[in-house]
Amino acid sequence: MQNSRYCGTDANFDIDTKIERILIIDDSSVSIDLLRASLEPEFKIFTALNGQSGYEIAKFEQPDLILLDINIPEFNGYQTCNLLKSDPDTQAIPIIFMTALMTEESEARSLMLGGADTISKNTNVEIIKLRIKNQIELKRCKDLLERLSTTDELTGLANRRRLNEFLYQEWRNMMRAKNFLSVVLIDIDYFKDYNDHYGHILGDCCLKQVAQVFQETLSRPVDFVARYGGEEFICVLPMTAPAGAEIVGERLRNAVMRQRIPHQRSSIADVVTVSLGTATAIPDPGIDAGGLIDCADKALYQSKNNGRNRVTCIRI
Ligand code: GH3
Ligand code: MG
Ligand code: MG
Repeated sequence: MQNSRYCGTDANFDIDTKIERILIIDDSSVSIDLLRASLEPEFKIFTALNGQSGYEIAKFEQPDLILLDINIPEFNGYQTCNLLKSDPDTQAIPIIFMTALMTEESEARSLMLGGADTISKNTNVEIIKLRIKNQIELKRCKDLLERLSTTDELTGLANRRRLNEFLYQEWRNMMRAKNFLSVVLIDIDYFKDYNDHYGHILGDCCLKQVAQVFQETLSRPVDFVARYGGEEFICVLPMTAPAGAEIVGERLRNAVMRQRIPHQRSSIADVVTVSLGTATAIPDPGIDAGGLIDCADKALYQSKNNGRNRVTCIRI
């Protein structure tokens, strides 16, 4: 029966309640032990005695916050901060500088380097905890905002805004690498009729199911899929030549058919099908990424005109 089809829940944005993880980087094990004693067990603590190993632990463990001593010999706190901020894997982790000697100069420098806060080591531990919690909360809000602004609420896929970021980034990467960039535009066939016949709720379920199929079908970690509009989706495939784009297109088309989602009002099949258009180029300054999507749109239009449930490929 149609209405019993599993539909899942909307993409949700729950804030989890895990124990926050803090990395303390300080050359003094006495300072570390003092801090650790006051922060555990409320927080899970990682420690490092120098900047380099602190950076490596941060990259691997992805703590929620870093407490960074300014006065570490050789590779000091500011240099460690620069290293952390220059790596995309660690740059978003909030850093609170700790110092035994708070001066206006050290405070200003810490802030200029992207430190979230600077705390004197003599500060009362309850105040330290509150300032840590403030920064972790702020980071959570930023992460949530980032997710909300880049995710399609219905399907959980990337949205158009995220697509634009990713496409332009890969356009530039492939231009430098002189390698192929492919896009695949996908449109569900006779979806207006689907909604008219089964209703919008099942229409939404269908969109979610198809979105999940696309996500599961793309095999390489660099491949990217987004919801492009109502019942349209788009894949961006870096380092993928025209033949590869066609193979991916066919794989996606077949994967949707294999779901066997009933569609009594389709003129071409008794299940939901999709039409696809692919476009491939080696990016160069004479064209732009938007032009690649335009070509995929033309290819998609041909697939629709030629009977739907098919893939059409264009090489620029
Ligand atoms: P074609 O085979 O030519 O693509 O025909 P189509 O009916 O799929 O295309 P058309 O553009 O005429 O209709 C698209 C329909 O997609 C219109 C609307 O009912 C449906 N749609 C768009 N966004 C959503 C959505 O978020 N949820 C649901 N349930 N339906 C949507
Ligand atoms: Mg459409
Ligand atoms: Mg359609």
